[in-house]
Order: sequence, then C-alpha cells, then structure tokens
Amino acid sequence: MGVEAMKHSVAIIGAGPAGIAAAIQLQRSGITPLVFEQTRIGGLLNNAFFVENYPGFPDGISGHELVAKFRKHLRKWKISILNERVTNLVKKKNTFFIMARKQYCAEKVIIASGTAAKRPKIWFKNSHKKVVFEVYPIKNVRKKKIVIIGAGDAAYDYALNLCRHNEILILNRGIKKRGLELLIERAKQADNIRYIQNVRIQEITQTGEQLIAVVSHNAKRYSISADYIIYAIGRQPAIDFLSASIKRKFPRDGGNLFFVGDVKQGDLRQTSIAVGDGIKAAMRIIQVYRRNGVTENR
Ligand SMILES: Cc1cc2nc3c(=O)[nH]c(=O)nc-3n(C[C@H](O)[C@H](O)[C@H](O)COP(=O)(O)OP(=O)(O)OC[C@H]3O[C@@H](n4cnc5c(N)ncnc54)[C@H](O)[C@@H]3O)c2cc1C
Repeated sequence: MGVEAMKHSVAIIGAGPAGIAAAIQLQRSGITPLVFEQTRIGGLLNNAFFVENYPGFPDGISGHELVAKFRKHLRKWKISILNERVTNLVKKKNTFFIMARKQYCAEKVIIASGTAAKRPKIWFKNSHKKVVFEVYPIKNVRKKKIVIIGAGDAAYDYALNLCRHNEILILNRGIKKRGLELLIERAKQADNIRYIQNVRIQEITQTGEQLIAVVSHNAKRYSISADYIIYAIGRQPAIDFLSASIKRKFPRDGGNLFFVGDVKQGDLRQTSIAVGDGIKAAMRIIQVYRRNGVTENR
C-alpha cells in the first residue's frame, strides 16, 4: 500500500446525521475533516416520513426537509463531502489508510457509517430493481401495489409514507408488531393499508412488470402480486469495509478511532442520538488537539 502524500487530521466515514454533526463541530474548531459518503447526504434519514421527536420542530418535519436543513448547515460551514464509497480501512502504526476511489491517509477516523438492511434468506428468481430495502428509491411512485415485509417502525413508517398514493399490504411473519403504537394506530386508520400476519415468503419471481410473491399462511400457499416489494426486516452495523483488526475492536472507541451513531446503537437508532454521538466524538478530538497545543486550521 503506497503512502498518500497528505495526511489529513480527521476523516469521517458516512454523511448521515452522525457524520454531519461531527463535521460541523470539527469545522467550527478550525479542523477541516475529510468526509466520505457513498450515496446521499443525510443517510437513512432520507427515508423518514415524519420526524416528530427531533427537538426544535414541534410540528414535526419530514426526513427529506430535515436533511435539506442539514445540507444547508454543511454549506454554511463550507464543508464539502467526497462522494466516494470507502472500501477498506486499515491502521498501520499511527496512520489510518482509507481506500476509496483513491487512497487517503488520516490521523483520526470517525466511523459514522450507520446500518445496512438485513437481506432475506430466500433470494429472488430474477433479481431486479423492484425489490428494495429502503423507501427512498420508490418514494415518488403512484397508483402501485406495494408489499412491505416486516412489522417494525420502519415498515409502518414506509407504509404511511407511501399510502397516500398507493395500495399497501404489510406482511408480518409472526403476530407481534414491533412498530411504535402510534404508527400502528395511524396505519389502522389509513384506507390504503392492509395488514396480514403469520405469513412466510417462500419465493419471489417477476412476470413482466409484476412481482409474484409465493407465501405460506395458515398452512396454505398463496400468490400475491405486487408492483414493488420493500423488505424492512431489520438492520445491522455497516462495517464491511473495516480491516479484521479494526472489526475486532468494534464498537469500542480507542486509538484515534471513534464509532458514532446508528452503527453502534443497536436498537436505539435515532437521529438525535446520532447527532449527539457525532458532536461528542468531535469534541473529544478537539480536546486532544487543544491539549497538544494544536488548535486552528488543521
Ligand atoms: C423509515 C425511518 C424512519 C425514521 N424515523 C425517525 C424519526 O422519526 N426520528 C428519529 O430520530 N430517527 C428516525 N429514524 C432513524 C434515523 O434515520 C437514524 O437514526 C439516523 O439516520 C442515523 O444516523 P447515522 O448518521 O448514524 O447513520 P445513517 O443515517 O445510516 O448514515 C450513515 C451514512 O454512511 C454512509 N456509508 C456507509 N458505509 C459507507 C462507506 N463504506 N463509505 C462511504 N459512506 C458510507 C451511508 O451511505 C449513510 O449515508 C428513522 C429511520 C427510518 C429508516
């Protein structure tokens, strides 16, 4: 691995709420971070239909609008984001080597990579773009039949997001709904949302534009047709790019490495927690630089 000429002070992997908050806090202290984002600024928050628990927005705000405010905040502090996926992170002696479109080096790294969707054990006969793992890619579709697999917060949030213009069917493999009671109640009130429990997906195929899900329900097999299927069956930390030795340390901070936000939060995945985590890691870094007498314009 060749050594990149310039060693950056701090690299941040992921520009969701956690990475954005860390970047703003660092920039305010004169430390310009190198920020990587593989897809879109705002991360998972782009999928949130209606955020009602982020302080400062008493009437709620859509995930999309909150991300627009975060973007504005980044622009205000002239923070640029590299639209690159980090494929490997390795530490050698006191330097982190970050492999993206090219290789970068940094003294400290904040991992704000969030979570990746869990994939089902069965796979599809024809894999295609009509089976998705977030609502974002299809949030503008109209007059479609959409099957959502899962019964947690995300499944209900997706259903409420899409039901104004589409027909929604939520399939739960058990009987327990893990979504917030408030969301379940709203879904019950919505005309276009139906719910079936004790359903197992056996197979998904595509015929022309239609998806066909073969399901078992009460010991019988049925076919359900859909224009789109969204899997919302849980998420796991997005840490595939970490070297084996860094992975062993996950989720503990240490040695100039910090984990912030959803990537380390287990079931406690919320925007305000991610933002707090990002600010906290940035402050710890700033304290170290100050202690060592290094403050401005790194
Ligand atoms: C449907 C839904 C509704 C929600 N509603 C609410 C709500 O009402 N209130 C609330 O507080 N929270 C809500 N959330 C949760 C909130 O979106 C998350 O807690 C928050 O986005 C976590 O921020 P994060 O920065 O830790 O991770 P993420 O938002 O997941 O951001 C991580 C970023 O890292 C990027 N990344 C990952 N790996 C790499 C890599 N190798 N290279 C480069 N970039 C990478 C990803 O592309 C992503 O943009 C909701 C989530 C969903 C899905």
